[in-house]
Amino acid sequence: MSELAERLSAIDSQIADAARMAGRDAAEITRIVVTKFHPASLVRELHAVGVRDVGENRQQELEAKRAELNDARALDGLRWHFIGQAQTNKAASIRRGADAVHSVDRIKLADALHRAASPAGEGEQDVLDVLVQVNLTDDAGRGGVEPDDAQRLAEHILTLPSLRLRGVMGVAPLDEAPASAFARLHGVADHIRSVDASATWISAGMTGDFVEAIAAGATHLRIGSAITGPRPDRG
Ligand SMILES: *Cc1c(COP(=O)(O)O)cnc(C)c1O
Repeated sequence: MSELAERLSAIDSQIADAARMAGRDAAEITRIVVTKFHPASLVRELHAVGVRDVGENRQQELEAKRAELNDARALDGLRWHFIGQAQTNKAASIRRGADAVHSVDRIKLADALHRAASPAGEGEQDVLDVLVQVNLTDDAGRGGVEPDDAQRLAEHILTLPSLRLRGVMGVAPLDEAPASAFARLHGVADHIRSVDASATWISAGMTGDFVEAIAAGATHLRIGSAITGPRPDRG
């Protein structure tokens, strides 16, 4: 087994253990491998060892990797998750590159993603999966909508037919136990499910806190360095 396949399988058994401890079925948990700062070739290697969900946090990098991998043989069934702060003027590129956008944190961004949809013509409308990113820190300058405003944003998204509200996303603050931050996120997720019962995704948990996230009900984990190894440059 390659080192990559070994790290992946080690993380997957930790996910399975954490799910068992939490009395949950690991099959209901999607493990997204965050490939930011790594070359596009890593995405191909991950696909070859069975990964079908990858995450990127920068629009330019997402666009470049998709362009590079476009010429390669088909990466069947690969889904791209956009997990970074999104600029409204980059919404069209993000929409083209991503199957799901986890980081919708303001009405303007939701509107821009909606406007970037291909016009509904014959056949099926192009629908983008989106999550409301909730700011779990005390710093209003961080990504994410304030918890109190999350429901209003969710209601707005429901008025945009080219977006499908899937749930919520959060990043635990560095200065708080992840369990309590994820419990807050779960509370927001409950509110949003009362607006739309099908918005069941909770995207939470990274290399350092995915066990706590699983205990708090996360359905989508965003794991980078534990699987990919350290990131080449910043990050
Ligand atoms: C980079 C990143 C991750 C993955 O971080 P690791 O600690 O490497 O697992 C998860 N979520 C977001 C939003 C990120 O930017």
